[in-house]
Amino acid sequence: MILEKKAGDLHKYTEEQHKTKLKVGFVPTMGALHAGHISLIKKSISENDITICSIFINPAQFNDPNDFNKYPVTIEQDIFQVETSGCNLLFLPSVEEIYPKETEAGQHYNLGYIETILEGKFRPGHFMGVCKVMERLLRIVEPDNLYLGQKDYQQCMVIKQLITDLKLDKKIKTIICPTLREPDGLAMSSRNLRLNEQERKDATAIYHTLLYIKDQIHKNEIPEIKRAAEKILTEKGFLVDYVELADANTLKPINRWDGDTIIVVLIAAFMNNVRLIDNMTIN
Ligand code: AMP
Repeated sequence: MILEKKAGDLHKYTEEQHKTKLKVGFVPTMGALHAGHISLIKKSISENDITICSIFINPAQFNDPNDFNKYPVTIEQDIFQVETSGCNLLFLPSVEEIYPKETEAGQHYNLGYIETILEGKFRPGHFMGVCKVMERLLRIVEPDNLYLGQKDYQQCMVIKQLITDLKLDKKIKTIICPTLREPDGLAMSSRNLRLNEQERKDATAIYHTLLYIKDQIHKNEIPEIKRAAEKILTEKGFLVDYVELADANTLKPINRWDGDTIIVVLIAAFMNNVRLIDNMTIN
């Protein structure tokens, strides 16, 4: 596996691959890798000639400096996991490499409605930071296929919109991969490493709440289901940012389900200082 730290050299490398008509798959991450990340890499390997993974903890997308400072770093295990997965190249850039001085001027992306709700509402500036790093990474790597996890549902929508806005949608195909879970249902997440033993056990309440909502949607009114769901989470010690049911294509919240529209249930909640998100589609 090639370990690359320089954006310019990586760009040259991918240009070479394109010249020889090789297909490049790309998996961007922030490290502290788990089986969910590796499943994206494996999918890319199965669908491309070359797979590139990046590890970069993007300061621009952390609205809470504490969250940034405490973001788990397990770089040696990460390198080992990426190498054993069969990935061809791991990109490990510094902050200066991603944000050189000349690009510092605050780039703004017009995301519209999607930035005003859910993660956008509770984490102001977060998606601007996501767009900033993704534009930079996509221009460096120029992948044919980009692999993202459904775990970050709204982020997938934002990145797809960014790709369209940048007129890269003819060149880059986005593939959304399913959320990998622990055996007890908790969605795998780098932030799970920050939970203590008791918090880790209680954290499964998010998954159980998603299942509860999926079961109740046929039996009860949505506002009532949401109230009951928040109660379940609060009783397990969560501080809830949101429990929302929305149209899976537009993310517009719904208060009544027609039984036809594909919907997504989204939850974000704090277990003490650790903010967890998860979602489930219902059709
Ligand atoms: P992160 O390192 O958290 O920025 O995640 C990097 C990529 O892995 C994103 O596209 C995530 O949506 C995806 N990802 C994170 N957790 C999971 C999971 N449990 N299952 C599948 N993909 C995931």
